[in-house]
Amino acid sequence: MAKKKKANKTGNSHIAIGVDLGGTSLMAAVVAPDGTILGECKRKTKAELGAVAVTERIAQAITKALKQAGLAEEDVVGVGVGVPGPLDPETGIVSRCPNLGASWSGFPLAQTLEKLLQMPVTIDNDVRVGAVGEHTFGAGRNTQDMIAIFVGTGLGGGIILDGKLRRGFRHSAGEVGHMVLLADGPVCSCLERGHAEALASRTAIEREVLEMVSNGQDSVVTALMHEEGRSAMSAGILGRAMEANDPVVTQAVEHAQYYLGLLISACVNCLDPEAIVVGGGVLERFGDAYLEPVRQVAQQHYINQVDAERVRIVRAELGDHSGALGAAILAQRGLGGRSRTKTV
Ligand SMILES: [Zn+2]
Repeated sequence: MAKKKKANKTGNSHIAIGVDLGGTSLMAAVVAPDGTILGECKRKTKAELGAVAVTERIAQAITKALKQAGLAEEDVVGVGVGVPGPLDPETGIVSRCPNLGASWSGFPLAQTLEKLLQMPVTIDNDVRVGAVGEHTFGAGRNTQDMIAIFVGTGLGGGIILDGKLRRGFRHSAGEVGHMVLLADGPVCSCLERGHAEALASRTAIEREVLEMVSNGQDSVVTALMHEEGRSAMSAGILGRAMEANDPVVTQAVEHAQYYLGLLISACVNCLDPEAIVVGGGVLERFGDAYLEPVRQVAQQHYINQVDAERVRIVRAELGDHSGALGAAILAQRGLGGRSRTKTV
């Protein structure tokens, strides 16, 4: 760490690397302080190889992204990694990663990657780094208080207050997907009932469609899944069914929109943020039209109706890059809380 920092090729010493680690693919991006991506590398995660091998793949992706940017390791301040699961940003240890496998439980990701790269590494939850990305460079820029909600296979959130990511004293702030919206409702991925994730995620829409189909209602989704050779209802398939005015999918989507609206109203009543930024696979596929009924339901439930329309409920802007950008920002700011990240 005593390496002397020299002016790098872009004349700025706060270039950082952001990594978005997903169940199927991972992306490393070299990011300038203004959010410009100077180089990037996307590759398969190959989760079946286990935590150590995947960490090596992350290191290789970083090396390639740096090469593409024409930079060397000493030109960047550090690496941030967004991880799909609960973790401790202070120790850099992942608690568990259901999408990636059992070898991630208790895995010291930050330390392992630091040894491979000789660079400081900060890790945080993927949804929270996505919130940081949207707050800094996306739909939530110019706000002090903002909540990001990502709707896909699951449903996660990140909270920014006074311009800073709020982690909570046990690192579990922002878990909006597990707020109870319907007592005794459908079972959530966490095995409890009636949580927002079980009512408003793509998985929730899929479950309701399958229920209706198994009760004998006609839907084009069965044919579409067969046509695309898929066993799961992707957002793409749901989008095509909506475009075909499929009554079953339309009804399931309307229910998901209703519960997303309720969830947003609960967040607004609790924290009164300036913006709720909604992203994830469902929003990517359905676009801004998805949010119109959501806004109506949310507004109806604000306890403070003064200037209700000034609470912006908007679509995320960074798409696939929100995670990598947010992770790079955390590395730039040294927000991981680990002592080594603060020495840069
Ligand atoms: Zn839950």
